Amino acid sequence: MTAAYPYTIWEPGATIGVLGGGQLGRMFAMAARRMGYRIRVVDPDPHPPAAAVADEHLCGSVADPDVRRRLIASVDLVTYEFEHLPTEAVQELSQHRPVYPGPEVLRIAQHRILEKQFLAAAGIPTARFWPIRSEQDIQAALSQIGTPAVLKAARHGYDGKGQVRVDQPDQAVEAFQQLRTSEAVWEAWVDFHTEFSVIVARNLRGQMVTFPAVRNWHRRHILDVSVAPAGLPEEATRQAEAIAQSIAQHFRLVGLICVEYFYTEDHQVLVNEIAPRPHNSGHLTIEAAVTSQFEQHLRAICNLPLGTTQLRCPAAMANLLGELWIPQAPRFSLVCGIPGVYLHLYGKRGATVGRKMGHLTAIGTSPAQALRRVRRARHLLQKSACDTTPY
Ligand code: AMP
Repeated sequence: MTAAYPYTIWEPGATIGVLGGGQLGRMFAMAARRMGYRIRVVDPDPHPPAAAVADEHLCGSVADPDVRRRLIASVDLVTYEFEHLPTEAVQELSQHRPVYPGPEVLRIAQHRILEKQFLAAAGIPTARFWPIRSEQDIQAALSQIGTPAVLKAARHGYDGKGQVRVDQPDQAVEAFQQLRTSEAVWEAWVDFHTEFSVIVARNLRGQMVTFPAVRNWHRRHILDVSVAPAGLPEEATRQAEAIAQSIAQHFRLVGLICVEYFYTEDHQVLVNEIAPRPHNSGHLTIEAAVTSQFEQHLRAICNLPLGTTQLRCPAAMANLLGELWIPQAPRFSLVCGIPGVYLHLYGKRGATVGRKMGHLTAIGTSPAQALRRVRRARHLLQKSACDTTPY
């Protein structure tokens, strides 16, 4: 039933199931519907961001066999927009409908120990790490890796959740207890010069394309601002692209994969993590690239020819987190007056600190100009949220 061959193509009109209804699912659904595909989103939240733009929302979890049955009966193929999914359920689903990217890359990417071990086995450089499953392992990690370090929960960590920095050996046990998990990774702290990411797309017939590297800045472990072109030394870019492509090849990936990197002061390119899906650092491709990451994901999973990844112009992206809504929602109309600035809001109900509510993209004639524009635009929003004078 699921057998798909290099020449299988899902033409517009096909129905795609999307596991997860967050902002990535929403922007993917927008790209897919523009091209005539039908979208069914699966999410247990009664009002996920993607539901508003999907053809149908199956309210429930993919772990529920009844939800899976309904999905199988109504879609041609399945993709997902986040990796924290029940692996066995996705595996079972893949016996009835093609699931792209496949369950194997999902299994690795959703578990930080497996992910780091996979990278190490493939000879891909990462921060030094030690798997933690017991307090004994902590002692071994202290002697093998030491501090400063970051302790990361093996599963369900994202946007800084499930991560604790450990500066002193005597904080180690408490840090592990604080994570409330049975499995974690002890990672050497990397004093990086730059963080950046590379997105690769690959389709069923093996065609592969690579987006230009994007430079990223995080705040409290959450992506804050991105810019492209990244302005990295050519050799670092070449290495990163080769690594990302080799990972895509290894898994015979169908879809997108984003690889996040640290670039260190001594010119090493280290992989931080991999995500087999569209990525926050790729949002600027909507305005700046000939083909957006969301359309590229669609092309890859449907086995269409892949689009050009070239940038039309430099661009920068700034995330809009929930704190921007405190004490009141910003006046979004303010940014609409700035040339080259684009507003994206995800339609989420309830802004909380650290929650990704939307983003701004600015295009410019140089990366520096795009960065200045996007930061200025976000600053205007921040000021307006604190200005309680009526208008
Ligand atoms: P992650 O969830 O692993 O992508 O981590 C989120 C962010 O935390 C990264 O993008 C870095 O800014 C920071 N971070 C994670 N691991 C390390 C590390 N080993 N050394 C320094 N910073 C890190």
